[in-house]
Amino acid sequence: MHEKLQSLIIEDEPYYRSSGNEVALFSAAMKRKLPMILKGPTGCGKTRFVEHMAWRLKLPLITMACNEDMTASDLVGRWLLDAEGTQWHDGPLTTAVRYGGLCYLDEVVEARQDTTVVIHPLTDDRRILPLDKRGEVVKAHPDFRLVVSYNPGYQSAAKDMKQSTRQRFGAIDFDFLPQAVEVEVVAHESGVTPEIATRLVSVATQSRALRGRGLDEGISTRMLVHSGSLISEGISPHDACALAMTAPLTDDPDLQAAMSGFVEAQF
Ligand code: ADP
Repeated sequence: MHEKLQSLIIEDEPYYRSSGNEVALFSAAMKRKLPMILKGPTGCGKTRFVEHMAWRLKLPLITMACNEDMTASDLVGRWLLDAEGTQWHDGPLTTAVRYGGLCYLDEVVEARQDTTVVIHPLTDDRRILPLDKRGEVVKAHPDFRLVVSYNPGYQSAAKDMKQSTRQRFGAIDFDFLPQAVEVEVVAHESGVTPEIATRLVSVATQSRALRGRGLDEGISTRMLVHSGSLISEGISPHDACALAMTAPLTDDPDLQAAMSGFVEAQF
């Protein structure tokens, strides 16, 4: 393996609690080099799943969090001036394509439209990445895999994924775990007792019922892990939930009050 990727191999098994057959499905898709979309709300375990799968499949993992300012050059690379003159620097996608690895583009629809242009020839039989600015066409390494994540919850029509792009991928739907499993995850990740984890999960479940009724998103597993970690640090459940769940989730005083009510009922 190329030295550039050696450090991106995940040595220790990332803890991932599966709730369906996603591990088998994803493994088969990766074996057949099918690019994948992981759909689901923020903080429900998509990134952890990818880390776990990269470890299982022994593939280096190259993650790129996408945002609205991200352009194709951020993915593929650019010419940069240094002491020795102008040098080409491969971007993260190019590194994965050239040397082989699992490239994970988190929240891909946030990136500018020009990024889809580079993804297209990589996601069909050609498996190539044209580097126009460098005058090179990189043929994908046999170990190159592409996985993107996407949150259908808060996408505006303009930012939706185009059919011409999405039809190149396979997709797996993620959602928050069933309550009992989420309790296990929160206890494992934060160190709280299953009893406290159960109460935290109850607060989240109630908040998720408010999705679309003022709240864009309910309390995620990530937020529960944060709250639990603070409780493990000796912070009171009220303060921990306010800091890690209620306050970050919404600025609306009424919704905050509703959320505090859910916490009061549990602790
Ligand atoms: P996403 O990528 O969907 O935004 P993450 O994968 O970052 O979410 O999940 C947030 C946190 O929730 C993780 O860091 C982990 O602690 C926890 N988590 C969520 N789902 C699981 C799961 N199925 N197994 C283990 N941990 C999980």
